[in-house]
Amino acid sequence: AMRRSVSSLLALTERYRAMDAVRFMERRLQQAERTWSTAAHELAARTNGTSRARMKILVHLGLLTGDSGRWFNSGTGQGGPLGELVQWADALAALHALGHSLSITATLPDLHRLLGVPPGNGACPIEKALPFDLIFTDYLGIEQMSKSMGLSFREYACRYRVVDTFGTEPAFNHEAYATKNGFKSEWGHWNLQPQQYMTMFPHTPDNSFLGFVSEVVSEKKKVTIPKDDHMAMVYGKKDEMWKGKEQYLKVISRHMAVHGTVGGSLTSLPKFVHNHGLLSQRDIQLLLRRAKMFVGLGFPYEGPAPLEAIASGCVFLMPRFDPPHSSHSTAFFKGKPTSRLVTSQHPYAERFIGRPHVWTVDVGNLSEVEAAVIAIKSLPAVEPLLPYEFTAQGMLERVYAYLTHQVGLLAHSLVLAHLVSLNHRGSSRDMSSYHRLFVKDFCSPGPQRWPPSSAMQAVASEGGVSCQDACWARGLVCEPSFFPLVNTQDAFARLGLRCGAVERRASHLVPAFTHNGSHCLLQEETLLFSCAGAGETRVCPCRDFRRGQVALCRDCS
Ligand code: UDP
Repeated sequence: AMRRSVSSLLALTERYRAMDAVRFMERRLQQAERTWSTAAHELAARTNGTSRARMKILVHLGLLTGDSGRWFNSGTGQGGPLGELVQWADALAALHALGHSLSITATLPDLHRLLGVPPGNGACPIEKALPFDLIFTDYLGIEQMSKSMGLSFREYACRYRVVDTFGTEPAFNHEAYATKNGFKSEWGHWNLQPQQYMTMFPHTPDNSFLGFVSEVVSEKKKVTIPKDDHMAMVYGKKDEMWKGKEQYLKVISRHMAVHGTVGGSLTSLPKFVHNHGLLSQRDIQLLLRRAKMFVGLGFPYEGPAPLEAIASGCVFLMPRFDPPHSSHSTAFFKGKPTSRLVTSQHPYAERFIGRPHVWTVDVGNLSEVEAAVIAIKSLPAVEPLLPYEFTAQGMLERVYAYLTHQVGLLAHSLVLAHLVSLNHRGSSRDMSSYHRLFVKDFCSPGPQRWPPSSAMQAVASEGGVSCQDACWARGLVCEPSFFPLVNTQDAFARLGLRCGAVERRASHLVPAFTHNGSHCLLQEETLLFSCAGAGETRVCPCRDFRRGQVALCRDCS
């Protein structure tokens, strides 16, 4: 059954309440309780009568352990990163609302205890069968598990879900391939199914888009706050983010009052800035409802705050990056397992939202900046916009779909049938033992493909264009789970590509076709199927998607 109160979830986080980061997450959960409750009620009504397995899920917050934990905890009230905490709080809220049985760990000893890792140093296979159907963790957490679980680590690989803000492309995920072909990075190389990585924004369709929720303030009585056309709020809660931005901000200050929410040292803040200091999430959202414009400084990349601003009726003005930022050119992305070219501070806002809500400018060109500010200031009220995928309903629908379909449908449906029959005989002990059996099979493909293959549209990309971009240019998204369907000579022929020769290769750029010699290149390593990556003419499996819910196809449930 869906859950509509967060109290039993807060009982699980209580153990770690001494941590500032955990208290931040708890406040967020409490503030958003009614929002999640409504979403759970709505989903329950929509899925009424559908049997679901209640899964045992471990959430291990690697980011809160050891040195990383000290860093997150000390930064929570001091302008440190909050995006990850926002995402984890919302992931917990969604898993809890869906009625699953959760355990939470935020220290290594607690992780070892729950996994059943024998005490002592060094990696040891766990003593009994893994007592969880799924484990949600992050890059730090997966590393900790690999170091302590010994041989058991790979045995249970299909059960891991790695919450990974910026995404991991297949070429970086496949360890041997990455080492041989220059994709080795500090973080990738876990040889998981690429969809086991769950991202904050729909960066690359190779991963699953987990997301977060942008509608947090839930008031009993809606207070109307009039917009102030003269008010601009700057996105940057740490002084260092403001360094070197004075000219850009000065232009804005000629037309609007510039406000900030910066904590700690204030040496880079121009004198004309009205600084409110760091605020609670609720207070920051109240300020955003008054401001006309939210101003990006170029960093942080791809955080939650711009979506909150746009959902509060602000126009988001941000820097364009030309040339784009990437792991080759920018210190921040160095070592991140992605070849993404980041064309602005917030590519999701640029690509999926755009004008009139989002304006992207060259901040080195002050006349372009000024023209944008004047135009934004004189815009009639811009309606608040919250993409459905960033509402609690949208996130819950998506997580529900992943937990239903990404866990081996065949095993699932067979076991459900069996559970029902055991239930009739009233044997709850047999039921749980059978449930253990079924979870062994998480990687098995189901009898029905998901998304359904009827949603597929095969496309041949232009040379030098990735499948991700080729699909997008046609109003579609690349769907990695359809790759096996286009990895055949027949599929090539249906696209008018006649094979002079056929070659099987392990490469993240195939299936592909070379016009010079009419070679059909077929994939021989399924872990390397990749929407990202441009090479020869690529053969791409695209699908349609729901407006505002790009993770799901139109006929997906
Ligand atoms: N935020 C906050 N107080 C502030 C500034 C921001 O609580 O003074 C919140 C904001 O509402 C958002 C979260 O911090 O939900 C993350 O913001 P950001 O986009 O800055 O991402 P980060 O860089 O922290 O990961």
